[in-house]
Amino acid sequence: MKSARLGLRWLAFLLVVVGIVWAYNAFDLGRLLTLEQVKSSRDALVNFYAAQPLLTIFVYFVVYVLATAASIPGAVILTLAAGTLFGFGLGLLLVSFASSLGALLAFLVARYLLHSTIQARFGKSLKPINEGIARDGVFYLLTLRLVPLFPFWLINLLMGLTPMSGARFYIVSQLGMLPGTAVYVLAGTQLATIESVGDILSPALLGSLLLLGSFPLIARTLVNWLAQRKVYAAWQKPKKFDRNLIVIGAGAGGLVTAYIGAAVKAKVTLVEGHKMGGDCLNYGCVPSKALIRSAKVAKQLKTAKDFGVENVTGHVNFQAVMQRIHDVIKLIEPHDSVQRYTDLGVEVLQGHAVIRTPWSVDITLPDGQTQTLTTRNIVIAAGAKPFVPPIPGLKEAGYLTSDTIWNLTELPPRLVVLGGGPIGCELSQSFARLGSQVTQVEMASQLLGREDPEVSDQVKHALQSDGVEVLTEHKALRIEIVAGEKQIIVQHGDVEKAIAFDHILCAVGRSPRVTGYGLEALGIPLTSKNTIDTNAYLQTIYPNIFAVGDVAGPFQLTHAAAHQAWYAAVNGLFGTFKRFKVDYSVMPAATFTDPEVARVGLSEAEAKANLTPYEVTRYDLDDLDRAIADGTARGFVKVLTVPGKDQILGATIVGEHAGDLLAEFVLAMKYGLGLNKILGTVHTYPTMSEANKYAAGQWKRAHAPKRLLAWVEKYHRWQRSEKSS
Ligand SMILES: Cc1cc2nc3c(=O)[nH]c(=O)nc-3n(C[C@H](O)[C@H](O)[C@H](O)COP(=O)(O)OP(=O)(O)OC[C@H]3O[C@@H](n4cnc5c(N)ncnc54)[C@H](O)[C@@H]3O)c2cc1C
Repeated sequence: MKSARLGLRWLAFLLVVVGIVWAYNAFDLGRLLTLEQVKSSRDALVNFYAAQPLLTIFVYFVVYVLATAASIPGAVILTLAAGTLFGFGLGLLLVSFASSLGALLAFLVARYLLHSTIQARFGKSLKPINEGIARDGVFYLLTLRLVPLFPFWLINLLMGLTPMSGARFYIVSQLGMLPGTAVYVLAGTQLATIESVGDILSPALLGSLLLLGSFPLIARTLVNWLAQRKVYAAWQKPKKFDRNLIVIGAGAGGLVTAYIGAAVKAKVTLVEGHKMGGDCLNYGCVPSKALIRSAKVAKQLKTAKDFGVENVTGHVNFQAVMQRIHDVIKLIEPHDSVQRYTDLGVEVLQGHAVIRTPWSVDITLPDGQTQTLTTRNIVIAAGAKPFVPPIPGLKEAGYLTSDTIWNLTELPPRLVVLGGGPIGCELSQSFARLGSQVTQVEMASQLLGREDPEVSDQVKHALQSDGVEVLTEHKALRIEIVAGEKQIIVQHGDVEKAIAFDHILCAVGRSPRVTGYGLEALGIPLTSKNTIDTNAYLQTIYPNIFAVGDVAGPFQLTHAAAHQAWYAAVNGLFGTFKRFKVDYSVMPAATFTDPEVARVGLSEAEAKANLTPYEVTRYDLDDLDRAIADGTARGFVKVLTVPGKDQILGATIVGEHAGDLLAEFVLAMKYGLGLNKILGTVHTYPTMSEANKYAAGQWKRAHAPKRLLAWVEKYHRWQRSEKSS
């Protein structure tokens, strides 16, 4: 349907082009719109204008608008004619409006007939241009308009292909074209003295227009420079600095920033107020994955009979499970330790950091002393903390978060998990597998709200089959304590329901840590999502103060924090020479439920929402030899591609080891490899990774060249000396 619409637009565009070419030839416009023609017809035109002034103005205006709208060359001649016919004032007025209106019409033709086709086809490559136009389009257009060297008609058509609004295009065009128009109208008043159109723009005049054209860009640079000076104006800059870089927070973002800084021989101080390794090591990825592993073993005991192993019994020793989790943290701790980072050349200070000025940080050390350090750059990597919803009675009843759940010493017999995101799903399933009676409450209509419904359905069924009672579209209203028993009251439609529990876990999101370390005093703004507001270089309003990781968003993922760290470190230390815009185009994410859910790029829902044309290829894992042999034959690989091409827009995998399997698609997207390349790669048999290749194979079959194959079939028949039918 969509491609038919696009085809129709192309057809309409071709018809418009053919119509214009025909009209140009039929009316011999090439001959009419010449300097000689205007000169020779001058007296006749002047007489006609004297006899019929209003009609002449009307006809002139319409002709000008149509000629420019149709992108017919000759605007300069028409402008000269305005000068000679109407004089400078009226001529300028008429040409200014007619040319702007005609330009707008040409812009709209390109916008309507070509914009969606071009954006759909080259969307990815056009992304930087689109972003540039959204940010600085007005300056670019103004420059192009002020310097009448760039073909007028081409600018109209090209701008129509960008996301710039018609109103903005019109206003900037009219203003920008005014000086050039004035020059040509004025020249038209002296028509007899002009020998050729090229004479009008003398080198001096052209130089002046060029200077005028570069003015918007120079002005913008100046405004930026002044704005920067303004934010720093209130602060005293030190004459020299103790450090090149101070990093606040030793989680994933801070550790990697400090590592890179030290690797390039900068003097770096890393400040951590709590535990080295931050949330991921101490409260997040590491303990949750260790818990998931124990829960999986517990599940395997229950399903051992399915694999021919009988009379398997087992008992979950929750204290041992928790001990193992803490042991795992201990084993990984050295990777993020003070010792390791000191050995790498980073000065690690354990204490609370407060930014005092854009170049100085106070660090309160464990002995209560405060050390003040001056620095060229600061990277804030302060992370996030669990969000506790304002549910009446929650505080009084007591609650667990991802920070405190690891301190449990006994398995909660009845656990309520608030939240259906990745953390809520991973922990619900794990505790259910270990033996808790888990009720998971989610306000939205599906778990894992960012994934496609079929993905969240699979996870929901998996959780349910492990004994989790999944309550979607249920709103937590309040907590009550009835006869010493804790109950949560949830609402579904108009019906309220009470669920008794021993422990309740809040897993409804994580709030960036943005208070208590100087952001307020420095006036560093936050976004609507309460993250620190940064630009594409991860700079705050102070260009030497950067933010990365959960505190900066838009992701709350360890690898996203580490990815941003490179940009913050390099932009801070070497930004004087070259700055890099952070690239989020290929950012994978996984939820480690069983089955796992892993995605890179667009989901189908996202593609629909942002009107990206796509094709879907799906390969179900119940067909995969290794999955069948392992008893894990559930889930799928779903790939979104550009229609008619093997270029990957997104891949979602649901299944055993989906997080690992995704790596192939991440690599493919990062380096622009299509499904043909995945299909042409040897995958070890029998492995789960073959699923990626089979998905590519499904795509290939759907795009087999049917006509060519019909001819090949004929060839084979001929080879067998059969008669063709
Ligand atoms: C249960 C759970 C499971 C998760 N699982 C995954 C997963 O599987 N995969 C994944 O990618 N992500 C996962 N995450 C998310 C991941 O943990 C975070 O995205 C990651 O830790 C963010 O790193 P960060 O450096 O931004 O912040 P953090 O790791 O939070 O580090 C910030 C550090 O800054 C310190 N700090 C703050 N302010 C100051 C100050 N003023 N002075 C000194 N120090 C300060 C804090 O003490 C903290 O240690 C999970 C999170 C949770 C809670």
